[in-house]
Amino acid sequence: MADTDCIFCKIIAGEIPSFKLYEDERTFAMMDINPFNDGHCLVITKAHAVNLLDADAADLAAVLPTVQKVARAVETALEPEGINIIQANDPAAGQTVFHYHCHVFPRLLNDGALLNWGHTPGDMARVEEIYNRIMAEMN
Ligand code: 5GP
Ligand code: ZN
Repeated sequence: MADTDCIFCKIIAGEIPSFKLYEDERTFAMMDINPFNDGHCLVITKAHAVNLLDADAADLAAVLPTVQKVARAVETALEPEGINIIQANDPAAGQTVFHYHCHVFPRLLNDGALLNWGHTPGDMARVEEIYNRIMAEMN
């Protein structure tokens, strides 16, 4: 179901142009219009969902093969030094468009993208406490 105020729904409907790379029954891929590096692309679900938490599981299952298809084309065409697959949920995580999308994010050594974090050893008691809280919600 499309959301009439949603920019990505409008792109899927053809009301707003895009550099479309691919589409199938459940997914749509295009260039990001504000690329961080060359080859920055987006894979979105055709059905409107705010983000991962809201999306249909079958739509999500269709996303990863499309991400792979796009990432392979980016890899062959541009030969970046690496590729991150990034997906943001809610503003604190950096989400700015509230229709599910995955970034195919080509990387160059020392490109300065602030995505990687160091590994500080965890407090295992704290890890276990948090584990128990999440496990209580798993179904
Ligand atoms: P987010 O910040 O939500 O993870 O990512 C949203 C992405 O959508 C941004 O990278 C932004 O550049 C991209 N974007 C925003 N508006 C448009 C648009 O109209 N067309 C395309 N192709 N990308 C867009
Ligand atoms: Zn939408």
